[in-house]
Amino acid sequence: MYEAVVLGGGPGGYVSAIRLGQLGIKTLLVEKHRVGGVCLHAGCIPSKALIQVSEVLMQIREGEKFGLKAEHVSIDWEKAMSWKDALVDRLTKGIHQLLKGNHVEYLQGEGVVESPNTVVVFRDGEPQRIETKYIVLATGSEPIELPDFPFDGEKVISSTEALELKRIPESMLIVGGGYIGLELGMVYAGLGTKVTIVELLEQILPGMSKDIVRALMPEIRKRKITLHTNARAERLFEKDGKTWVTVRKGDKVFDVEANVVLVTVGRKPRTRTQAFEKLNLELDEKGFIRVDEQRRTSVPNVFAIGDIAGQPMLAHKASHEGEIVAEVIAGKKVACDYRVVPAVVFTHPEIAVVGLTQADAEKEGRDIRIGRFPLTALSRAQILGATRGYVKLIADAESGVLLGGEIVSPEASSLIGELALAIEMGATAEDVALTIHPHPTLTESIMESAKAVFGSAIHILNS
Ligand code: FAD
Repeated sequence: MYEAVVLGGGPGGYVSAIRLGQLGIKTLLVEKHRVGGVCLHAGCIPSKALIQVSEVLMQIREGEKFGLKAEHVSIDWEKAMSWKDALVDRLTKGIHQLLKGNHVEYLQGEGVVESPNTVVVFRDGEPQRIETKYIVLATGSEPIELPDFPFDGEKVISSTEALELKRIPESMLIVGGGYIGLELGMVYAGLGTKVTIVELLEQILPGMSKDIVRALMPEIRKRKITLHTNARAERLFEKDGKTWVTVRKGDKVFDVEANVVLVTVGRKPRTRTQAFEKLNLELDEKGFIRVDEQRRTSVPNVFAIGDIAGQPMLAHKASHEGEIVAEVIAGKKVACDYRVVPAVVFTHPEIAVVGLTQADAEKEGRDIRIGRFPLTALSRAQILGATRGYVKLIADAESGVLLGGEIVSPEASSLIGELALAIEMGATAEDVALTIHPHPTLTESIMESAKAVFGSAIHILNS
């Protein structure tokens, strides 16, 4: 008999299991494939590893602006992929060590919940019955398939296969201009693939501000990515031994040739599964498991975390929920708070947002002040030769309390941590402005934008 069984070993499940172990709770983690989940094996980590390969190549090629000449630079794709696979393996082993070190038992197999206190794990077809006091569901999500573009793993692929390609394709058409499509589009365009992105809505990165998209456009042009917004990929056909996609944009219809069609139109929670259908859990209108602020489902001793239990579908949100659930099971009075969930798009330049957007704040009728600082005015950005971008802070007009922020910059993914902490701690723009930041660094852009909130930025003229 276990106190807790965690179903699914992604960043939600394995983190929850480790925390349960730390809290002295007898825990079993059940994972169908490999611990680490989508994030480690088909998401965050391999995609960022390929971004690294592509960015290093771009940097070498652009070295001339620093007076460096690198001729005949070539890519050993097989080696790049082995490097990526090796780092994923290392991280997977690391998780196993952490599970062991925290006394979490691990069972590789497919778990099916029989009742609120029973999980049956199938390993090589052999069932094993396990009794438990609590169940934590963390079975994640899967790519959405379009009826006109069924995945075949070769011509029409999801992000999973895009991270495993045997060779760099000559051309790629990406259906969907969300963050996954854009990140992978930039990777392959950087490696020399002719990339076309087709997005149904009027802008790429739906939900992000127009400023963000504007800041990204020069790089999209530089990498010769063809972008069709307000456009629909309609059908796939073969002609003269080649694959083509028909695209409709307003009243124009045209065909685009593509070696590979990558469909990145979103992911759906893995909730319509026999893994826990017997529990008859309440789902919301989008198909996510309905949970309370402690991530408890409609069955009181069953919790749900990560991609199966609501947006945003992000690894750090899944992990946070995993830790909270572990503490709830251990009897602590804690709950999830989503005021501060940073989101990052690892494009070039990187994009990161946290808290309220300006549009949200205005929609809520809040009286706000904006502080904006462009990277062109930042010495570190000049040194890096990467001046495209900015930091924008949104603060309450009266109190100066920070509500949100938007960063387009090299290392925006790391910089956003400072803003997340500031907002979480209830800091004002003044608190950040008066914090001495090291020089010359990218972090000064956060300090300067905080000063800009009340018109005292030093390295720009305040309006
Ligand atoms: P998952 O990671 O999906 O893990 C679920 C696990 O459950 C899987 O290992 C699966 O095998 C297992 N499972 C399913 N059913 C069963 C069963 N019946 N029995 C046992 N095991 C089962 N997020 C970020 O925060 N940053 C990023 O940079 C980022 N990049 C991404 C890039 C790509 C290309 C993709 C696709 C996603 C990316 N994400 C990123 C999203 C991130 O991967 C997910 O939000 C995260 O993995 C969700 O974690 P999870 O634990 O909920 O589920």
